Amino acid sequence: MAIKSQTKYIFVTGGVLSGLGKGITAASIGTILKARGFSVNIQKCDPYLNTDAGTMNPAEHGEVFVTKDGAETDLDLGHYERFLDEEVGRLSSLMNGRIYANVLADERAGKYLGKTVQIIPHITGEIVKRIIEASQGFDFHIVEIGGTVGDIESLAFLEAIRQLRNRVGRENTLYVHVVYLPYLEASHEIKTKPAQNAVRDLREAGIRPDVIVARAEHPVSHNILQKLSSFCDVDLAGIVPMQTVKTVYEVPLLLEEAGIGNYITKRLGLKTRRAKLADWNRLVNLIKHPDHRSLKIGVVAKYMENEDTYLSVFEAIKSAGWANRIRPEICWINAEKIEADPGLLKGYDGLVVPGGFGSRGVEGKILAGRYAMDHNIPYLGLCLGMQTAVIALARKAGLEGANSTEVDPHTPHPVIDIMADQKDVTEKGGTMRLGNYPCVITKNTHSSKAYNVKQIQERHRHRYEFNNSYRDQLTAAGLIIAGQSPDKHLVEIVEIADHPYFVASQFHPEFKSRPSRPHPLFDGFLKAAAGEAHSKETTHEPVKRSIVEL
Ligand code: GLN
Repeated sequence: MAIKSQTKYIFVTGGVLSGLGKGITAASIGTILKARGFSVNIQKCDPYLNTDAGTMNPAEHGEVFVTKDGAETDLDLGHYERFLDEEVGRLSSLMNGRIYANVLADERAGKYLGKTVQIIPHITGEIVKRIIEASQGFDFHIVEIGGTVGDIESLAFLEAIRQLRNRVGRENTLYVHVVYLPYLEASHEIKTKPAQNAVRDLREAGIRPDVIVARAEHPVSHNILQKLSSFCDVDLAGIVPMQTVKTVYEVPLLLEEAGIGNYITKRLGLKTRRAKLADWNRLVNLIKHPDHRSLKIGVVAKYMENEDTYLSVFEAIKSAGWANRIRPEICWINAEKIEADPGLLKGYDGLVVPGGFGSRGVEGKILAGRYAMDHNIPYLGLCLGMQTAVIALARKAGLEGANSTEVDPHTPHPVIDIMADQKDVTEKGGTMRLGNYPCVITKNTHSSKAYNVKQIQERHRHRYEFNNSYRDQLTAAGLIIAGQSPDKHLVEIVEIADHPYFVASQFHPEFKSRPSRPHPLFDGFLKAAAGEAHSKETTHEPVKRSIVEL
């Protein structure tokens, strides 16, 4: 494949331990380059042997992010979209399983006839091919390598990005290594040894870092930076201390302040350009503003082990908060406990019922919808949260035992049913209704007010759907079809009549929310929540660690 030589490649790896915010760092580097007027693409290479993230447990791996073209990906793609304010596509997610599947399919097809198929050069060659493919036409292509250097699984990726330097030239490649500097409480000092070892591990793979981002929980002195510079053989100007910050949206500003934008462009032979980061400064100021009015938002959740499961949902709520000068206090409500203790639903200014799969917790989500209907509490349903709202209304209208066939295959009233084209699907991976689909908005609804356009495109990830045979009965009972597919066959948004804000969508609006541009449905929801005064008593603790911390 021809290589556009002007594309500059930035590879981001991580050392010492996982969870250092490599994705945020990669996205932030993209942000400061985009702020200089460059076009930037970004790609995540994941060492898992999964083909995509679609079948991975959200409680273990966090949210499955869905791209407009229907790829089920790692949540880092959500960071990329929120930071770069671009919609990335399926090429931006590269999982090891996909690499192997392609190479093995080629082997079966006879493309390697006579050859021994090996990790080097075949797997690495496939990785290089896919990185170059994703980079075409961009000034910069940022590639984040998942996992920690030293993991067996990521070796082929490291070898591939090492080879890429030879292929496209040193002047077109730059390696960023994100490391951790632990702090010893007893002696009050920051230690650099694990970082030095992590850099050594990277060198063993044949890669010398150009930039080191040093994560730390305490201020990093100049001496430490100098030590890292000399022991790791990286220019002092290429070492960036990155202390834990209040909000991840501050990271681009910190990188810029550390001069890393100019360092990168200079090192890659480009003219220095000024970064336009006024919008980011404005956003960070808004986020840090202490005077915003606080509201309690209950998220009726079932994957409670991991805060990252609802990452885009939380970010969308918070973005709507920043835009409306509101500080939403996001509280978990355990869906599985609501049936036994309906009082758990009390005391919120608004309720959000996010997506989910399987029957666990569904009764609690149905009760949450019913509670919001009966008590005029603003409600936002996201995918499963739309389905449970429809079930709640059906039961309220007297359709006893109404349910989704996902939960109860023998329900007398399958108001939510499997889509016709899904009935014979047996393979689980990549077979749902995925990605962008058009939706026509009904006039004079909360949705039309929020969107202010006639037709939208939103991202989907589901197998079940509103059952049209109940349309008349349910609309007579107060259901409003606020959005549907252009051919009117698929119900996309429902609302409840005479309610301050009860909006539930079959799609996932959270994926299109941006930190400085909240999604219209979240914006409308939070505005409605701010307009209604409800009792503030609640038994719930807010989510402890802010989801935006690194
Ligand atoms: N389990 C439901 C379905 O497959 C909802 C999916 C979701 O919430 N993303 O239709």
